[in-house]
Amino acid sequence: MLALRPNCELCDADLPPDAPNAQICSYECTFCAECVENVLCNVCPNCGGGLVPRPIRPRRAWRAGTGLEHHPADTVRRELRYTMHEVAELSEQLRDTPPQKR
Ligand SMILES: [Zn+2]
Ligand SMILES: [Zn+2]
Repeated sequence: MLALRPNCELCDADLPPDAPNAQICSYECTFCAECVENVLCNVCPNCGGGLVPRPIRPRRAWRAGTGLEHHPADTVRRELRYTMHEVAELSEQLRDTPPQKR
């Protein structure tokens, strides 16, 4: 199941489960759309993959056992383990290569 992480790993903005600007990579690394566009250039600083909008999990159990009431969002805030210099280096290296060719 997709982990709904509570914040942008880069700028620490809150990204609640219904945030329209939350983006994730295939490892569920989570960033706000502003950081993805303006800083990361669609390069995840943890894995080099691309980022896409995070799907919004329904609040209610429209089907038995589903939705936020059964599978709530994560509460552990994450923080990048790379320096801004290291982040910029990887973005610079990969930004012009589309994710499907990285
Ligand atoms: Zn951010
Ligand atoms: Zn990643």
